[in-house]
Amino acid sequence: MTKKKSIFAFALAACLAVPAMFMLSACGKHEHSFSSDWSQSETQHWHECTDKKCNEKQDLAEHEFVWEVKTPAGVHTDKVETGTCSICQYQKDRTVEGSGANIHSWVWKANDTKHWQETTCEHETPLKQNEQDHTWEYTSEGELTHKRQTNCGAEKHATRIESNIPHRYTDVNDVDCNDCGYVRSLTGKGSFNAIAAKTYNAGAQGVALSDYTVDEKIKDLCEIQYKVKGANDSTYTTTAPTNAGTYEVRIYCKGNATYLKGEVAKTDYVIKQIEVRVGISFIKEKQTTSNNYITLETYEVTNPSLPSNVTLTLRAYGEQYKNQGRYSIAKTNGEFEGLEFDNKNFKPIPNKSTLSISIVVYTNEAPVVTGTNQTESNVNWIGYVTPPYPTITMYQITTGTLRVGDYLICEGVNIPLKVKDIKLNKGSVSGSTSSSCLNIALAGETVDISFETPGFTENDAKTKLLNKTFTKVDYEVLKVQTSLSGKNYTNNSSEKLLNVGECRYLEFTVTIIQSTTFTIYPSDYAGGYAGENAYAVFDKTTGKPIATAGVNTFTLSESGTYTLVLKLTKTAEASASVSSKPISFYVSW
Ligand SMILES: [Zn+2]
Ligand SMILES: [Zn+2]
Ligand SMILES: [Zn+2]
Ligand SMILES: [Zn+2]
Ligand SMILES: [Zn+2]
Repeated sequence: MTKKKSIFAFALAACLAVPAMFMLSACGKHEHSFSSDWSQSETQHWHECTDKKCNEKQDLAEHEFVWEVKTPAGVHTDKVETGTCSICQYQKDRTVEGSGANIHSWVWKANDTKHWQETTCEHETPLKQNEQDHTWEYTSEGELTHKRQTNCGAEKHATRIESNIPHRYTDVNDVDCNDCGYVRSLTGKGSFNAIAAKTYNAGAQGVALSDYTVDEKIKDLCEIQYKVKGANDSTYTTTAPTNAGTYEVRIYCKGNATYLKGEVAKTDYVIKQIEVRVGISFIKEKQTTSNNYITLETYEVTNPSLPSNVTLTLRAYGEQYKNQGRYSIAKTNGEFEGLEFDNKNFKPIPNKSTLSISIVVYTNEAPVVTGTNQTESNVNWIGYVTPPYPTITMYQITTGTLRVGDYLICEGVNIPLKVKDIKLNKGSVSGSTSSSCLNIALAGETVDISFETPGFTENDAKTKLLNKTFTKVDYEVLKVQTSLSGKNYTNNSSEKLLNVGECRYLEFTVTIIQSTTFTIYPSDYAGGYAGENAYAVFDKTTGKPIATAGVNTFTLSESGTYTLVLKLTKTAEASASVSSKPISFYVSW
């Protein structure tokens, strides 16, 4: 017993000594003894009892797989994974279905414009992906072309290089190449030679081919354009200018895909005015006009370069000319400002060298000339010429306009005195500082007057002309006419309207060989009556009256040549209904 007890005790001790887990399952028919090695099936693992006859399984459980890639998915090949049980290290493989279905083998392809990937694996139609335009880098090759090369990446395709590609611009105004940035320009593509000044010739005068050069390559794109210098560029035209002036001319490129649109070269040239010689002084009656100029003179121009004669009117611009006065246009910078023709293709040039142009504007009103406070000092007797004549100084033009050639009469003088010369008096009694007045004196001016004084002596001048008031009279030197209406008429006068009280003087010259009686006939071409007239006849040489025998007759008894002055005064109208008729006169003998 003791022995058994000790075995039991040993067994008990052994039981106590083994781990509790063994003990728990060791409560069958026999004491199981489980292998420490794992037994495995495809799905499970366990510990087997070492007793071959015992089927007891300890720690039976599903594998706890940890999956790792064995072979990754490939082209049309599914991924294979290997699972390892984290408990028992059991391993098995599995395939991830479909994981390789969308994996293809790709190859890069390229054409001129694009690159893309294409499948090389089995497909009825190859698949494409990543199709893109090439990425190009552009580099200018010069004025006309650029080259480009791809920069898509070496993995896609080899670098493609294309040369001699024309630059690309948006339009003719686009300056820089849309691809490479090359800046195009017309600089240096043309130039003008110095263009000689032209002169107006009534025809268009543009530049000649020899006046400019232009790059052959753009020649056909270019045209010559003109505008008035300083005018807006929008006024450029291909029509060459005709009128005198300064013009801007340019070579203009119309532009195309290669060449820029714009100005190639520009210069100026002048079409000069034709110079026309004009007077240096103008005496004009005051003009009633709204124009801002006074009309001075008309010129007929004949010039070999002109197709026909041109009639020009010379003007002086300025509001001042609306008023009576004495004006001067000074030469300033070589020009007489405001002196222009109505046709600007012609330029007035004084016919003498002068520093100023004189313009006198007068009113057409008969002058009244008055002398006051004058003494003999106011008479200069010019006795060394034949016939001698007096100059009387410091007369006032009270009203109207006095001109050389006017005939003046004053109290105590029978025959009107012809004004031989007028000077502007500057305050000198002797007239030594007097200056030219262009043969005309205006109201308000102080003048020295030289008279033709037939029959006068120096003493006559000093007694008859000082401190007098002179008025202008109508005086006509008759022209000889003969054989009018079958009669031996002569000295027909112009018609002249006379009012009652007005007179006119008619000068005529006759030669007689014996005593002759003359008859004065007033004529009346208008069919009415001339009215009544009084006649007086004077010998111009002596200033003395010739006695008249009748109302309209007078007799010269000595043979000789006589210059006579007939004074005719209208005393009455013929009737109330035919007043102020124009009448003419003739004298017969
Ligand atoms: Zn067992
Ligand atoms: Zn396991
Ligand atoms: Zn494929
Ligand atoms: Zn590419
Ligand atoms: Zn370019």
